[in-house]
Parts: sequence; C-alpha cells; structure tokens
Amino acid sequence: MSDQVSSILKAWGEPAYRLTQVEDARRAGAREWEDVTTLPKDLRARLADVVPLWSVTPDAMAESRDGTLKWRLRTADGLAIESVLIKHARGRRTLCVSSQAGCALGCRFCATGKMGPGRDLTAREIADQALLAADAARMADARLSNVVFMGMGEPLQNTVAVFDAIREMHSPKGLGISARSIAVSTAGWVPGIEELVAFEVPVRLALSLHAADDDTRSALMPVNNRWPIANVLAACRRYADRTGRRVFIEYLLLEGVNDSPADARRLAAQLRDGRFHVNLIEYNATGGEYRGSSPDRVRRFSEELSDAGLFPSLRRSRGADIAAACGQLANS
Ligand code: SAH
Ligand code: SF4
Repeated sequence: MSDQVSSILKAWGEPAYRLTQVEDARRAGAREWEDVTTLPKDLRARLADVVPLWSVTPDAMAESRDGTLKWRLRTADGLAIESVLIKHARGRRTLCVSSQAGCALGCRFCATGKMGPGRDLTAREIADQALLAADAARMADARLSNVVFMGMGEPLQNTVAVFDAIREMHSPKGLGISARSIAVSTAGWVPGIEELVAFEVPVRLALSLHAADDDTRSALMPVNNRWPIANVLAACRRYADRTGRRVFIEYLLLEGVNDSPADARRLAAQLRDGRFHVNLIEYNATGGEYRGSSPDRVRRFSEELSDAGLFPSLRRSRGADIAAACGQLANS
C-alpha cells in the first residue's frame, strides 16, 4: 500500500527494503519509531519528526461481558474513531472497522448518523485498525479471521481508501484474510456498488435495506430518495452475478415501523431470485424514537420469509452494554 511513510522514504532516497523493515517492525509490535531498531538511529529521529509510526493510536478501550472489545482510536489530526473486535468460538475474531469519522447519510436509527459528516479515513487509517486488532487477537492466542465494514461511516462513499485497505488485509503479505471473510456494508450508495463490481477482490456485499417499500425506507434512510429500492437492488444483482456470491440483506426490525407480516411478504417478493440472503438484525437503542420488535413479531416476520423460501438468519447483538453494537458508535 502506498502511504505517507513509503512516499517519505522514497523522497529521501532510502532503499526499498527500509519500508519492509518498517512493516516488519509494526507487525512485531513496535509502537513508536524508536522501537524500529532495524533502522539507523538518525533516520528514526527524522521520521519521528514528520510522521507517526501508526496512523491511529488507541486512547481508550472497553470490554463487554460477552468478550467484545471496543477501542477508541485517535487519528494524527485528533479525530476519534471506533473499532470493535467481536469474539467467536475456536479463537476466531471479527473486526468491525470504521471508514469515515462520522457519516453524512443521516439514517434516523443510527448514532453515527446523528454525528453528521466527518472526514474520509485514509487507507492507512483503515488498515491500521485491522493490524492493531490482529495484534491484540494474537496476544490473546486468537486470530483475526473476519473484517466487516460496519463501524462508523459509509464505506462506499470512500472507495479509493477502502479498496486499498482491503487489498492490504487480503494480501498474503498483509493479513491474508480471505475475500469471503471481508464484508462491505452499504446503506445503498449506488455509484460505490458499481465501483465494487469492478474491484478485483470479490468481498462480500451487505446492503442495509431495513424496509420493503420506498416510503418507509425514505423515512428511515434519506439516501433512499436518491437511489430507491429498485435501483439499489439492481446494482446488488450485478454484484451477485459478478462474484457468484449472495448479497446479504440487512434488515433491522423496528416495532410497528417495518415489521408486519405484510412487510415480510413485500420483502420476500423482491428478493426471490436466489441472489440474496436476509439477516434480521436486533435494534440497538440509540436514544431515538424507535423500539426493537418484540420476540413474537420477530418470529412472525421470520416465519413469513421462510414460508416464501428465504430462510433468514437472526443476528444477535453483541457488545450492547458498552455501546459497541451496530449503530451505537459515535465519538462520545
Ligand atoms: N454505513 C454502512 C455501514 C455502517 S452501519 C451501512 O449503513 O450499511 C453498519 C450496520 O449497522 C448497518 O446495517 C446499519 O444499518 C446498522 N445499524 C445502524 N444503526 C443501528 C442500530 N441502532 N441498531 C442496529 N443496527 C444498526
Ligand atoms: Fe451512515 Fe450507515 Fe449509520 Fe446510515 S447506518 S448513518 S449510512 S453509518
């Protein structure tokens, strides 16, 4: 990945192996330039004056009862972002990364949306979240096996940096995470989905749909006014055809808003071509006007979808006690 450190080393006429030394040291746990002892001392000092070794630095951490870890990280210009490491069986960990410091799309149910727009993160800032998490997992005798772009921000509004970071996560010289274990989640930013169709790493695509008709969806997610359901599903179908993988449809169940049996039938009618898999998501409180659906309504909704042949998965919430669950990330 070409980034600030590599361009500085090049500009200073340093040989190419210097960058490898820096990358090796970062992987071996170096936190500051002075820890990169393979570099000459004066070069370390000069670098320390102009660029941080890590583009993000952990400045607070919380651990949930279920083992989920949430970090608050600072960028070099002082922005706070969050990433969340979720614990699974057999030493596997999933990292939820942020792609922007805030989000301009303003979905009504989302804490990040309430922060408003922030800047795009750089490829280095995104990849560093994963490298730091991989390190933390290793120290717990675990392995970072999955990365999901479900932290703060809309990844498909920041495709150049997101794609570069994915290349590093996927590359055998980086973290070696398989394409099917990396998921990009979008609120339906159609030009970004089109760019994903042309991207060489066939990652998983998740679409946050959350409603089965345009009126309901536009009320929840203003982005739907720009790209209504039919347009965004058409773009997702192109992605499914290009990768041969089903697109995940994320559907947040909100009591009395989008969770009636009729909603379920309407949803099923639009997703019946075998290119989609539905994940029903539990709502995490963000202090707004919404309430999650009761277990009874969740069951009814799920049965309607199954009757239509869609067989949804139920996504349990993790890390809610430390505000690390989906939609709860905001720089508090
Ligand atoms: N911007 C992208 C990715 C970040 S949001 C997107 O919207 O898809 C990651 C996921 O969290 C999305 O599916 C989003 O709809 C969901 N989400 C947002 N607020 C939530 C909440 N309060 N409870 C549960 N999920 C939420
Ligand atoms: Fe942005 Fe996703 Fe939150 Fe919507 S749900 S405001 S797109 S982060």
